[in-house]
Amino acid sequence: MQLTPDAVAFAQEVQKHTKVGKALIIHVQHDQWCGVFQPQGICNCTPAYVLLDDEGTVLETQGKSVCKSTLETYVASMKGGEK
Ligand SMILES: [Zn+2]
Repeated sequence: MQLTPDAVAFAQEVQKHTKVGKALIIHVQHDQWCGVFQPQGICNCTPAYVLLDDEGTVLETQGKSVCKSTLETYVASMKGGEK
């Protein structure tokens, strides 16, 4: 599954909030009619993004996240830079 460019941009934004050693989970939520569910798998909706921490707490949302189906999950984590 390939993330949409918007999702990648959101992920990069999210990583600014990422604490060292913490994992972040991003749910990309598409409308049910979205073409990503078709065999071609091309997204033609405006997906919503939900940012959760590694305990499942919602930290941030972008776009409307209600009544959408979560399709893509992206996990971002920052490696600890300590020596
Ligand atoms: Zn979509």
